[in-house]
Amino acid sequence: MSQGSQQQRPGGPPGRGGPPGRGGPPGRGGRPQRPRRERKPREEPVWIPLTNLGKRVAAAEITSMEEILENGLRIQEAGIIKKLLPDLKTEVIDAGIVQKMTPNGQSTRFKALVAAGNENGWLGIGRGKSKQMRVAIEKATTAAYLNVSPVKLGCGSWECRCDQKHSVPFKVRGRGGSVTIEILPAPRGLGLVAGGKIRNLLRLAGLKDAWTTAKGSTSTMNSTSKALLNCLSQTFSHG
Ligand SMILES: [Zn+2]
Repeated sequence: MSQGSQQQRPGGPPGRGGPPGRGGPPGRGGRPQRPRRERKPREEPVWIPLTNLGKRVAAAEITSMEEILENGLRIQEAGIIKKLLPDLKTEVIDAGIVQKMTPNGQSTRFKALVAAGNENGWLGIGRGKSKQMRVAIEKATTAAYLNVSPVKLGCGSWECRCDQKHSVPFKVRGRGGSVTIEILPAPRGLGLVAGGKIRNLLRLAGLKDAWTTAKGSTSTMNSTSKALLNCLSQTFSHG
């Protein structure tokens, strides 16, 4: 009889419930299985352009960053940059905690500094703050995308004199806060002579060979990144 066999079932060991083959850790039975197991699929949301410029880029009416810059258009959506510079990489160059005393007690927030570059003549740096580190990085990443601007690469090295875009076209200098950075053209194969974080930023911008000097408190990444961006914008100053 089927009744008899059914009554035997509930006598099994408790806490072993749940359908079989659900690869969860053993001993987790009893409680109802949580239905959501994936945390990933919020990775790449589909870009829905909101601005006029965004719509024109999405419709492939505008196909290059140069076109946007030449016409002096303002980019307000990170999606535009992602579409036009698909090989852009991002890197967290600084992250930390901001603690403040408020009337309600201590407030803790996170800050992040993120760089975005395609290692071929485009670099942007953005800042973000939030109560959550993850959100601070997201904000900084979006800001970095929106700040992406061109860097003129070239070979200003008298030892090299090639026509490849592996260094700066001439010596440039920039300031940010107390920090002054100088980038000097270097011959091919030399590599980037710079401190770790500055070197990373130069690489993201697309430089392969350069000498650098840095004065001031370069451990302050805020000032250092400003000085560096200022420096790189000078690559358009002449020539
Ligand atoms: Zn060269």
